[in-house]
Amino acid sequence: MDYPVIAKPKLEEIKVRPNLDQYDDLVKKFSWQELRKELDGLPGGGLNLAHEAIDRHARGPRADRVAMYWEGTGSEEERYTFAQMKELTDKFANVLKGLGVEKGDRVFLFMGRIPELYVAFFSILKVGAIAGPLFSAFGPDPVKDRLLDSVAKVLIVTPDLRNRISDILKDLPDLKHVIVVNKDNRSQEPLAQGDISYEKEMAAASPDFQIVPTTEEDFSIMHYTSGTTGKPKGAVHAHLAALQHMATGRWALDLHDDDIYWCTADPGWVTGTSYGMSAPWTNGVSQVIYEGGFRASAWYQIIQKYGVTVWYTAPTAIRMLMKAGDHVPKRYDLSSLRYMCSVGEPLNPEAIVWGLRALDLAFHDNWWQTETGAILIANYPIQEIRPGSMGRPIPGIKAAIIDEAGSEVKPGEEGDLAIRPGWPSMFRTYWHNQEMYDSKFKNGWYVTGDRAHMDEDGYFWFVGRSDDVINTAGHLVGPFEVESALIEHPAVAEAGVIGKPDPVAFEVVKAFVSLHDGYEPTDKLRNDIMGFVRRKLAAGVAPREIEFIDSLPKTRSGKIMRRLLKARELGLPEGDTSTLEED
Ligand code: AMP
Repeated sequence: MDYPVIAKPKLEEIKVRPNLDQYDDLVKKFSWQELRKELDGLPGGGLNLAHEAIDRHARGPRADRVAMYWEGTGSEEERYTFAQMKELTDKFANVLKGLGVEKGDRVFLFMGRIPELYVAFFSILKVGAIAGPLFSAFGPDPVKDRLLDSVAKVLIVTPDLRNRISDILKDLPDLKHVIVVNKDNRSQEPLAQGDISYEKEMAAASPDFQIVPTTEEDFSIMHYTSGTTGKPKGAVHAHLAALQHMATGRWALDLHDDDIYWCTADPGWVTGTSYGMSAPWTNGVSQVIYEGGFRASAWYQIIQKYGVTVWYTAPTAIRMLMKAGDHVPKRYDLSSLRYMCSVGEPLNPEAIVWGLRALDLAFHDNWWQTETGAILIANYPIQEIRPGSMGRPIPGIKAAIIDEAGSEVKPGEEGDLAIRPGWPSMFRTYWHNQEMYDSKFKNGWYVTGDRAHMDEDGYFWFVGRSDDVINTAGHLVGPFEVESALIEHPAVAEAGVIGKPDPVAFEVVKAFVSLHDGYEPTDKLRNDIMGFVRRKLAAGVAPREIEFIDSLPKTRSGKIMRRLLKARELGLPEGDTSTLEED
């Protein structure tokens, strides 16, 4: 089915007041240096994201504006102004400093979306350390891998998640402190020996703190991301990323001073930090943080209750809203909404059509990834939407489709989506893995790992991944990580993992497993293996499906041929199997 282009809106007719109404002109004359002047900077010329997102507002006319409206899972409500956020982050920065946290140290966060997560995150930046947010659904294995790889010094955690990972702490000799945040005394258990109470430290902390001078190139945040081989890698970003968060908040999310913004992403993933912390707050915009998970009625309720005007979410969530039905949004007053965006997976045209029908607004898709740190390609408020396209590059970005040799191909031809390096929010390295970082560049391009094509007018269209990485509900899953967990089960001899297309989650993780002699392929064993991996990794990462097979197809060098497994699963041609091992 062909989807009609959604016409460019007339300025006077639309609910948006676009910051980027002169796209073509701006693209031609744009300079990051010029825009850089809009950041405040530290006294003495440095740059720190915590200053740009919090302190500068706390010292100016926005001091008493609500930075965060928080709603807990039990409908608790809290609100924090920029001035209050400054005081809390100054206090916790003093706590961290008192514990010996220094510039460049890695401090990890493992908790749900509670206000203390946001306080701790910016406090880490204030002491010049590197913040490492972890997805709260992770089991012990991903947490251990990340803390070991980064040589983390401090972990800040809630009591429930502390219990989940208590067994791994003895394997982390460099982890000096565990700080436990027991919000509202949710846990009645006493602190484990050696743990530090966040609440106790905060009660005694001084609210006077001077941000440790950082430069724009000092590291600020690290997010682990999956590749085809090996364990996830820590993509490290610098404080200068704040510039692009601020800019794309205006251009792609259309943020204005009086907006109430809601980003549904979790800070354990890059969208939840770049757009659930930095973009709104570098623009001084109020945002809603909802601790709860997905439930269609609860989400609409949040929009109604807080008068959300700009909403940033993801295709899987949109498809779940579609599934809940058109009648659900009709029960709420959603008239505050004026702009909606989506990221993380391909946004199917039906979702745009549904948005127009059920919510009277179109979703604007945009594209980026952990390594790019911020939005690079977007559909803008004032342009037509070509349903199915990710949009056009933001000012200051040169994107292209390249061939194997690294040369640009003609419009319409499929190839690797590549970006000319040097944008402010670009990752600076993979932690202690410079070789892997270097391997991402070819002929002067950063090669994204996505396949796409570009049309004559410069709109980019996603085709798929060029590697075996799985995208499930917007989360990238490395097959190697899942296979490693599977083969730790005593019954599993070998495992191969693929992404299987799914109507809601885009892909789900499917595992092919061969068993050791003496094990029978029963449903009971299947459930046992599933539960085993879920406890080790996370529910979303563990296979949704396990198929037992006698042996896995392998290359002559012994590598599992995931592509072949996928082709067989989808009933597609098997392609070149000349390297297939002969039995
Ligand atoms: P992550 O690094 O976990 O944020 O995942 C980034 C990957 O998600 C990209 O490389 C794409 O494969 C996919 N992705 C992100 N945004 C889009 C989009 N708008 N359309 C299609 N795929 C997307």
